[in-house]
Amino acid sequence: MSLDFDMTFDPAYGEAVVVAPGVRRITVNNPGPFTFHGTNTYLVGSDTLAVIDPGPDDDAHMAAILRATQGRPVSHILVSHTHRDHSPLTRRLKAETGAVVCAEGPHRAARPLRIGEVNPLDASADFDFAPDLALSDGAVVAGDGWALRAVHTPGHAANHVCFALEGTGLLFSADHVMAWSTSIVAPPDGAMSDYMASLDRLLDRDDRLFLPGHGGLVTAPQAFIRGLKAHRKMRERAILERLRQGDRLIPDMVRAIYRETDPRLHGAAGLSVLAHLEDLVGRGAAVTSGEPSFESEYRPA
Ligand SMILES: [Zn+2]
Repeated sequence: MSLDFDMTFDPAYGEAVVVAPGVRRITVNNPGPFTFHGTNTYLVGSDTLAVIDPGPDDDAHMAAILRATQGRPVSHILVSHTHRDHSPLTRRLKAETGAVVCAEGPHRAARPLRIGEVNPLDASADFDFAPDLALSDGAVVAGDGWALRAVHTPGHAANHVCFALEGTGLLFSADHVMAWSTSIVAPPDGAMSDYMASLDRLLDRDDRLFLPGHGGLVTAPQAFIRGLKAHRKMRERAILERLRQGDRLIPDMVRAIYRETDPRLHGAAGLSVLAHLEDLVGRGAAVTSGEPSFESEYRPA
């Protein structure tokens, strides 16, 4: 199964680009190794509007969103997860519009922190965020001519949720499935076992188009998800092979497995290997003494 990433994307910063009937996208000018050209904010509806993922607290982006509403009411703000490139502008947008803020819940890690563990991901989390309405899995939020259903998809973040635009085959896949790259799955905020189960959740659906939190559209979601799963299984096999070859520490495995990767991403790669090892230890396919951590020594089962 080959996995073809689509790196073509015109961010058109500040413009509301029509991407589907009744759906517009505004990309934030916050490009980077983890955000691609920037975060995508989506506006849904033509009478009363929903805003999905307002983005980082950014003056120009705030102005662009308000310009795109053309004075129409924003009834709901939906937030896919509480990373700082997606949720912080919610506070100002709510103050300006009076919209109801909907999300799975406040920021949290996928597992409890261990004694003495420092969470390297805290800097990327929006701890100030709290929804007005906590969306259970399957919950529907509706406005004039649109209804959005919450599809819980933990993995990239514990509170990650995708939103299905009912009756259209469109799914806002946020950072769970993106056309330009794999997702970051980094403990303790993320968990590989959750991520793989969340891929299966979307495979069980029949959405025809994904609108991600970064980059362009995923036009053949089912085949793409199968490719993502195959990619993770390949990584998993590479890690098991490094264990058999005698690697015991995560940095050694990263150096061997991620030779081709931008060194700026090696920190994230180390956390991704840890995510796989947590999953492998949980399934009895690898062993370590005590709880799996970045510093642990790992062995084949
Ligand atoms: Zn993101």
